[in-house]
Amino acid sequence: MSLIHIFKNRCPDCKKGHIFINRNLFSFLQLTDMNQKCPNCNYNFFPENGFYWGAMFVSYGLASLEGLMVIFACVSFGNEIFDYANLLIIIAFMIILFPLNFRLSRLIWLYIFGNKIKK
Ligand SMILES: [Zn+2]
Repeated sequence: MSLIHIFKNRCPDCKKGHIFINRNLFSFLQLTDMNQKCPNCNYNFFPENGFYWGAMFVSYGLASLEGLMVIFACVSFGNEIFDYANLLIIIAFMIILFPLNFRLSRLIWLYIFGNKIKK
């Protein structure tokens, strides 16, 4: 598993085919559109029904890390650690980073567990 291939939206098997059809993160109408199989090596991106339900745990972890980083940034800029302003800033960051979290969590989940289910 290499982070470069995850960030480049590449197939976990051949590292060449794209997983998400539209590579633009902010194309909201096509944010969730994924290829069924790798256009290069025919690797199945949907190994079983509900495979990507587990990606929500990865998304939760990513969002938690981003929230902690925002709190550390807010505290370093002089806010109290339990300030309502921090909460509003975290919510704004979560909304802005939603497309990145969505795609990264699916990619990480596929890279971790895709090969274990591959038939
Ligand atoms: Zn492939």
